[in-house]
Amino acid sequence: MNFIDDLLKQRKEDNNFRTLDPVSSRNGCIITVNGKEYIDFSSNDYLGLSGHPEMIKAVKEAAEKWGTGSASSRLLSGDNILFHELEEKTAVFKSKEASLVFNSGYQANTGIISALYSKEDVIFADKLVHASIIDGILLSGAKMFRFSHNDTGHLKELLIKNRKRFKNALIVTESVFSMDGDTAPLKELAAIKNENDCMLMADEAHATGIFGDKGSGMVEREGVSESVELVMGTFSKALGSFGAYLACSKKIKEYLVNTCRSFIYSTALPPAVIAANLKSLELVKKEPERRKKLLELSVYFKKQIEENGFEVRSTSQIIPVVIGENEEAVKVSKKLKEKGFRAMPVRYPTVPKGQARIRFSLSSLHTKEMIDEALNALK
Ligand SMILES: *Cc1c(COP(=O)(O)O)cnc(C)c1O
Repeated sequence: MNFIDDLLKQRKEDNNFRTLDPVSSRNGCIITVNGKEYIDFSSNDYLGLSGHPEMIKAVKEAAEKWGTGSASSRLLSGDNILFHELEEKTAVFKSKEASLVFNSGYQANTGIISALYSKEDVIFADKLVHASIIDGILLSGAKMFRFSHNDTGHLKELLIKNRKRFKNALIVTESVFSMDGDTAPLKELAAIKNENDCMLMADEAHATGIFGDKGSGMVEREGVSESVELVMGTFSKALGSFGAYLACSKKIKEYLVNTCRSFIYSTALPPAVIAANLKSLELVKKEPERRKKLLELSVYFKKQIEENGFEVRSTSQIIPVVIGENEEAVKVSKKLKEKGFRAMPVRYPTVPKGQARIRFSLSSLHTKEMIDEALNALK
């Protein structure tokens, strides 16, 4: 059992020991932890939909009608009509032929990639993609190459050297990166994948509900939905609920219903969650002012932070402020906490050594005043 003590000790020495910190109440972007109120800059509830009265009403009504659980996996009797309505609407929202709902983004990425690819195949992944994508690739057994973050030149080099030795190939990226808040060059990636006989997958976890005229994501904004065969995203962030989707062709959906282990071997999401997901799509359409305000606040935050001499690479509502060493970032986060702000440190090994940062994620529920206060505290 020594390995357990050793790891815990090492984590503490590295300032990388994680603990849980339960929230006792949440009211918009104000949370209470241990009896103290904080302005929350660490949530992914970007549009504040998780507390929207219409979302709550939809959940209540669905629970009254269907009960709390879905009773079984979708291939047994867990597949109720709400899933089909949600999948049709998601497909329209994402401008794809079809969509398939997954129990979480983590289960979507691990399941989709490992169902489609195997030992004879090759996958080219951006250096900064989410852990769930990496785990999906490892599970698939495909050969993996990582290209430098958003570096299409490096990707092309890797393709020239390696593509032909393998059967099927995938290029995978996030459309908005969860740790850096910058965006992938989707148009260029679409051209590259066409030239190299690959499929392209984009994880829109942090873009869904926010970017593009319809608010469906970066794939919409960049006009590449035909070129991105696998458009994955979640209902758990800007959409304020839970679960995930893949928007794709009818054929790929049929293939996954028949082969994807994380889809097949897990109980279907509760009907009330699906009802909330349906409502969230409606609200994104009906209340575009939420995403408009979020993007305005993001621009404002970035401008202020740049004027204070910090470097900002973000082009989204996720704004990391690079501090340096793990220890420093932890200290800054603690100081912010003392002053009533929750903004989490992101440390090595999640980000490169010496680039530990404080990650601010904005919500349409924040105000300019709250941002000014947080920046003052940061200074
Ligand atoms: C949050 C996230 C996921 C996982 O989604 P969950 O629904 O929380 O499991 C996948 N990919 C990215 C990029 C994410 O940020």
